[in-house]
This record gives sequence, C-alpha cells and structure tokens, in this order.
Amino acid sequence: MKASLRRPTVIEVDLLAVAANIDAVAATLPATTKLFSVVKANAYGHGVERIAPFIEQRVDGFCVSNLDEGIELRRLGIAKDILVLGSVPPAFVHEAILHDIILSATTQDWVDELESVKGLRVHIKVDSGMGRVGFRTRDAVDGAILSLLDKQVAVEGIFTHFATADQEDNRQFQQQLDFFRELLATLTVCPSCVHASNSAASLWHPEAAFNMVRIGDVQYGLNPSGRDLLPPIDLQPAMSLRSELVQVKTLPVGESIGYGGTYQTQEEQVIGTVPIGYADGFTRDMQGFSVLVDGRHCPVVGRVSMDQITVLLPNSYPLGTTVTLIGRDKEAVITVQDWADFRKTINYEVVCLLSDRIPRRYH
Ligand SMILES: *Cc1c(COP(=O)(O)O)cnc(C)c1O
Repeated sequence: MKASLRRPTVIEVDLLAVAANIDAVAATLPATTKLFSVVKANAYGHGVERIAPFIEQRVDGFCVSNLDEGIELRRLGIAKDILVLGSVPPAFVHEAILHDIILSATTQDWVDELESVKGLRVHIKVDSGMGRVGFRTRDAVDGAILSLLDKQVAVEGIFTHFATADQEDNRQFQQQLDFFRELLATLTVCPSCVHASNSAASLWHPEAAFNMVRIGDVQYGLNPSGRDLLPPIDLQPAMSLRSELVQVKTLPVGESIGYGGTYQTQEEQVIGTVPIGYADGFTRDMQGFSVLVDGRHCPVVGRVSMDQITVLLPNSYPLGTTVTLIGRDKEAVITVQDWADFRKTINYEVVCLLSDRIPRRYH
C-alpha cells in the first residue's frame, strides 16, 4: 500500500531514541555479547527502511521473520549478518545463499530436502518449550548438525526462544534455560554462536545472554512485559502519531454520530473529525478511547470508521489543530501501552498494525 502523503495523519519516529535504547541495552550486556536487532514486520511498524541503516553500525546483525524481509535489508544496503528466524521453504534456499542471508534449520525434513547448498549458513533452532518451530531433543539436534555438515553447510549458530521471559513467575523460563544448557553441553559438535534472549530475557535475565541476544520491542522504547515488570533501564518511546482536526461542528442535543448511531450528543456539543480509522490500525474496538487536543483528553465518540474518527471536544478549535494519538501534548501523554491496555492486547500488536497508509517521518 502506498502511504497517503496528502493527509495530515503522520507517524513520527525518533531515530535517536531507537539508538539510545539499543545503547542502553548493550551497556547492560557483557562486551563480548553480540547484539542482533530484530526488525521484522517493518521494524515493528516503525519503518525498516530508515531504522535499519540508521542503527547498522551499533549492532552486530539483524533478525527478520522471513526471507523477503532479509532480501529487503540487502536492497537497503545492509552489509551486516542477517538471520531469518522463521522457516524458509527449501525452494528458496538458493536465494538466501545469493544474498548471504543466514537461515534457521527447524526440522530434519528441511535438512534432508536441501540440495546444492554450497555457501549456505544456518543457525539451528531448538524448541525448548515454545512448542512452535525447532528441534525438540538433543539427538535430533545432533543428527541435524551432522547432516548439515555433511552437506557442507556452515552451521554457525544454535538458538532457542523463551515463552515467559516477560513474566514475574520464572519457572517455565528456568526450565527452558536448563533444557537448552543441558542440550548444548552434550552436543557432539556445538556451533559457535549461541543465543536465546529476546528483549525481555535481555532485560530481566542477563544470565541467559550466551554470546548473542536478539532484541526487538525494547529498541523502540516499548516495555516487553507491558506494565508487569519494570525495565532496569530508561526507555525512550520512539513513536508518535499525530493528525489534525479536519472538521469541527457544534451540534444540538440528541444528534446521532457515526455508523449505527451509537452515540447521541448529550447537550450542545462540539464534535471534531480526525482522518484516521481502522484501515490505519486505529481499530474499531477503540471507540471510547481518547485522543489529545490542546493538551486535553478528548473521547472518541461514535463508531470508528474505516478512515475517520469523531471526538468530543471541550470547545471549538480551528481546522488544522493538531491531534495527538500517540505521544505528548503539553502535560498529557498517550502511549502505545495505553492503546494496548484499552484493546486488551500487547504493545507489539499495536505498532505492527499501524498500516502502511500512514507515512513515517523521521528526526
Ligand atoms: C520476534 C522475535 C524476537 C524479538 O522479540 P522481542 O520480544 O521483540 O525482543 C526474538 N527472537 C525470536 C525468535 C522472535 O521471533
């Protein structure tokens, strides 16, 4: 989708905040721990085209979720290592070799299907308790590594992923860590690069860093545990979302607002229209949430439409008045986490769902 440039709705991304967040995490890790930046899903909605080149020199490599995202990074001129975390169908493996992109080996079937793979680099994915992708036993890992080596594949790394690193209760985390450590200790050939930590594990379980971490959410100044655990470092939110009032009308009592007529004016009220809707990622369940106008919270009244929302204003404002949907306006702030709480979801989903229709601007 092309970004809508002739509309006042814009995401502003503070690149220096992203850099500061990465540096803050890096400062808590041993100097020998490599830091890979997770920029899947368009850098969690922040825009990979500008984020990845901007941070390349502060990180050791990048993680993406599929091969297309990896190839996009190469097209952007990224020279550092790129690791695809998800499984890539064998039919596309030659393209990974062509672009020097590291793949994850997740099943023996995949390993068996590989042909003419000179130059292929892989990390072995271990399922230590997510039940998602990866090998589940030491013997399975050993077998996969030996057949990969047999095929002249460079087996450079081995990794796992935690299910509960963002929670107070660390029993499952500890089980996964113990399982992974035990497996590493008994492998016939152990790859040199070992990693397990996402943002949450990097923040709250530094003992699990091995020699590399993969950080996503925290880079963007978001707390991977929502409001449950307090991060040991200061995080700077990188994203703001702003628009403008495109219509302001004073309506008499009893007028109906929006689809379904779910709201009627309670008295003479001022209604403002803002050009953002569920097609932009301002989802329909956000009716009743608020936006900031002139430093004040203004509730979204009536249904969220595909392209517009209507808000109740305390008084009339000129057309073109700034509306802050995420970020600060005078003393008031609305955070990505506020959106997530209102929608009973996680901050990750909020930023990923902000659509490509909204242009990203950088400073
Ligand atoms: C997305 C992802 C990460 C990054 O997770 P954050 O919580 O955003 O740091 C790390 N590892 C894997 C396997 C992932 O899929």
